[in-house]
Amino acid sequence: MPALAALEDYCKTLDRYYGPAPAGADFASPFAAALAAVVGRDVLDKVLQNLAAVLPDITPASVWSLPPARLAEALRPAGFAPARAKRLRALLAWLAGQAATETPPASSSLEFLNGASPARLRDSLLEVRGLGPESVDFFLLHALDLPFFAASAQAYRLLRRHGFVGAEAEYSEIQDLFRNALPEDTALYRRCRLHLERLGAEFCRKAAPRCATCPLKAYMEYEPCD
Ligand code: SF4
Repeated sequence: MPALAALEDYCKTLDRYYGPAPAGADFASPFAAALAAVVGRDVLDKVLQNLAAVLPDITPASVWSLPPARLAEALRPAGFAPARAKRLRALLAWLAGQAATETPPASSSLEFLNGASPARLRDSLLEVRGLGPESVDFFLLHALDLPFFAASAQAYRLLRRHGFVGAEAEYSEIQDLFRNALPEDTALYRRCRLHLERLGAEFCRKAAPRCATCPLKAYMEYEPCD
């Protein structure tokens, strides 16, 4: 396995290549980041437009008030809309539970979660039906600014191709590699994830990676591309 410290160099190299302030690193509100954790960052704007068309404002309380079928309609750009609507309603119910209220809060700041134990929040979120570890960590990192690296499929692909992990690597192994290699810095975590998403789309594609022109090609001494 290559040296772990190389991963920090990867992120620095991508900072130089893509710039240190990639679009999409920030969300309009913590609740918008929570929505992105369920529907995906790439379709968030379309989903917000759909919600804005049927709601006067977009808060946990207002989204909760939508009938499930209308909510699913608003989430249609994300695909698997009925399942995502159930997942989002489960997250909203979790927010209500954390706020100790009957319905989710009417504020998009989610500030009532500030000060809670990060580990307890993570454990509790992993119990929410339909939320996997990547969605949970995305929520914790982007909505609450807590230092959990949200490891993506692109991160896994790169690590596998560079010989950091084997084909059977689990999410926790990939997350641990980044956590151990990078300083605990939420802005860096957000940036690095975004860079890896872009790298995965432009160079480290699922099929036919473009190693010859990739900004990380200098690190390919470890393993050949597959
Ligand atoms: S050099 Fe090849 S394997 Fe490595 S990140 Fe770039 S495209 Fe992926």
